[in-house]
Amino acid sequence: MSNVLELSGITKSYNVGKPNEINVLTGAEITVERGEVVALVAPSGAGKSTLLHIAGLLDSATTGTVKIAGQDVAGLSDRRRTAIRRAEVGFVYQFHHLLPEFSAMENIVLPQLVDGVSQAKAEARAMALLESVGLAARAGHRPAEMSGGEQQRVAFCRALANAPKLLLADEPTGNLDPETAEVVFEGLMNLARDEGLSAVIATHNPELAARMDRVVRLEGGVLKQG
Ligand code: ADP
Repeated sequence: MSNVLELSGITKSYNVGKPNEINVLTGAEITVERGEVVALVAPSGAGKSTLLHIAGLLDSATTGTVKIAGQDVAGLSDRRRTAIRRAEVGFVYQFHHLLPEFSAMENIVLPQLVDGVSQAKAEARAMALLESVGLAARAGHRPAEMSGGEQQRVAFCRALANAPKLLLADEPTGNLDPETAEVVFEGLMNLARDEGLSAVIATHNPELAARMDRVVRLEGGVLKQG
């Protein structure tokens, strides 16, 4: 099974059955293969965050099928869904959400310790990830001692600490100036290629979108190619 993410017939409505029902997603479909990096482009309010949350098992669709690494998550217990999310999915948001009192290294080590990895192995992996994004020299620095672009690169490393198969990123460069966005994007692509990662990356930046393997647009509640 080489598909890391499969969404079919995804609908999402709020206030279902009420006069003010909002139909955000009306039949979204996407298949993301292993190693594929997909750009998700959508105007604000189109339902991009809703779609990413459904794909990452943080929210449930109203109807439709979600498969992660070949497994249909319908009917699974909350506990099992959480386990799949923690093992298979990494998230990055527009803001880094790093723990301020810990160093870059510690921020990447901690999720691995929670997962039962030894300190030595966790540190080795954290350092390898930091090297992939060009930040090995910043391992001992806290978030406040780093620039916004550096913080965001550390956030990518943390999201990948436990080697998920799928990375979901919600406008990860949306808060950065163009030059910094470029460096952060390069770091992300290096990580994705080094890790054989599948990713869905929401962006407003058409140049960055064009450099991913494929572009999908969210329009009128459905996904369109190109
Ligand atoms: P995007 O990320 O593309 O900006 P969102 O997925 O955040 O869009 O939101 C899509 C639409 O769904 C918006 O119109 C938003 O107001 C609506 N929406 C999101 N969450 C809720 C909710 N909990 N209740 C009602 N409407 C919501």
